[in-house]
Amino acid sequence: MTSPERGPQASDVLRRVFGYDSFREGQQEIIDHVVAGGDALVLMPTGGGKSLCYQIPALVRQGTGVVISPLIALMQDQVDALTAAGVRAGFLNSTQEQGERAAVEEAFVSGELDLLYLAPERLRSEQTLRLLARGAVSLFAIDEAHCVAQWGHDFRPDYLTLSTLHERWPEVPRIALTATATPETHKEITARLGLERARHFVASFDRPNIQYRIEPKNEPKRQLLRLIRTEHEGEAGIVYCLSRASVEKVAAFLQENGVGALPYHAGLDARTRAAHQARFLREDGMVMVATIAFGMGIDKPDVRFVAHLDLPKSVEGYYQETGRAGRDGQPATAWLAYGLQDVVQQRRMIDTSEGDDAHRRRQAAHLEAMLALCETASCRRVRLLAYFGQEGAPCGNCDTCLNPPETWDGTVAAQKLLSTVLRLQRERGQRFGAGQLIDILLGRQTEKVLQFDHASLTVFGIGTELRDTQWRGVVRQLLAMGLLAVEGDYGTLVLTEASAGVLRGERPVMLRHDPVAKKADRPAKSA
Ligand code: ADP
Ligand code: ZN
Repeated sequence: MTSPERGPQASDVLRRVFGYDSFREGQQEIIDHVVAGGDALVLMPTGGGKSLCYQIPALVRQGTGVVISPLIALMQDQVDALTAAGVRAGFLNSTQEQGERAAVEEAFVSGELDLLYLAPERLRSEQTLRLLARGAVSLFAIDEAHCVAQWGHDFRPDYLTLSTLHERWPEVPRIALTATATPETHKEITARLGLERARHFVASFDRPNIQYRIEPKNEPKRQLLRLIRTEHEGEAGIVYCLSRASVEKVAAFLQENGVGALPYHAGLDARTRAAHQARFLREDGMVMVATIAFGMGIDKPDVRFVAHLDLPKSVEGYYQETGRAGRDGQPATAWLAYGLQDVVQQRRMIDTSEGDDAHRRRQAAHLEAMLALCETASCRRVRLLAYFGQEGAPCGNCDTCLNPPETWDGTVAAQKLLSTVLRLQRERGQRFGAGQLIDILLGRQTEKVLQFDHASLTVFGIGTELRDTQWRGVVRQLLAMGLLAVEGDYGTLVLTEASAGVLRGERPVMLRHDPVAKKADRPAKSA
């Protein structure tokens, strides 16, 4: 490894500027590589310490390190923090006034900046490219590099223009960084940014201090309140909801129950959002109730729990969002409540979403992977890491490890359910959602059963061995296994190609007991 003749040593900068004694795992190698002029692709989990991997090389190398970041709302904070540490930093984005922008440009051109943060859309303009050509660029850092991947969950078209950087400045080293790294995304980043010959640094994605838990959704707000009261009273947390309306409702509910909660979503005006973000960062024990608009780049080390009241759209999203818990390495909880309705709702969103078929197929694949994680009877962490192409052993710190779900032979139950779907379709030309199917299996004489004369079906009342909630669990798990599919606006259930094997008795179906249903079934002492 060549060490630079001129300028300070990386380890000096670490100590002097950032005040840390030693590098974290992976940092030194990456920094040495970039300082020596190499290209790098860095895959490292949230909180792993990616920023130093480009900040230190920018300080060691001559010229200005140009950082491309989509986090416009955080640029001011990042630059303030660097300035406070004595680093000469500036940013250019759309929120700035003309005069301010001119001053930053001037500083860059005259070589007075160590770091320049740029919003990706800036690079669309020839003016910005000309500006960069007038100064000396020491490196390009592409933060949140997964935004270039259409496969991923956070695609930003402006990122596609970043390939021009290498074409125009082939001699300037590039370092791309992301905390998202499924093998697909990794491949796509490499191809789109032309990083085939870069060195790839892949850190472990395990976050051992985070305890992963996923449970069926019954009364989500109450379940959340119980979690906070029993385990995280007075501690900082983030609660994710899918819609703005539910963000408002949940925040109000928590406030009524004495929890210091704040809403955050794109429907609030910029000033309110900024104020809520600032309170969350500065005050102790605040709970931010938010849509996924909140959180990227937020560096709050002591977030003790991340709760999801709705199913995330992908495992990547889930991992990023839960990764905001426990950055300080202390124990933290990632808790998710999900139910059948989540699956129905998301299927509907995919079916009605804009974009081509390929886009819909990708979203459907994301949803299936997320469902498989929810319904697994084995270690959540092993599943999660496997999704990122990494291996692990059962962790002992997730719900399925701590409280292994019992599995049962659900073949007959699955056959009963699937044949009800089949009969309705074949004999009546009808399709229904889970509610009606379960009423039929349980032999309930509801109004809708009478209306459609479903009591005369041969399958009517053949499923009384299970309770309503248990049947819902069966439906969820069959969906997760691809043995059943949901379609249309009303959550209609339909068979899949794989259903036939179950109906013919060629394929056994092992199911897991839902933890809550199990508890209710038994005397308390054995639970
Ligand atoms: P990432 O971008 O990977 O999510 P950050 O770069 O924001 O992570 O770093 C996460 C936290 O770890 C920050 O508070 C940062 O100051 C701290 N950190 C990074 N490197 C070190 C180190 N070598 N020693 C101590 N703390 C570090
Ligand atoms: Zn585990």
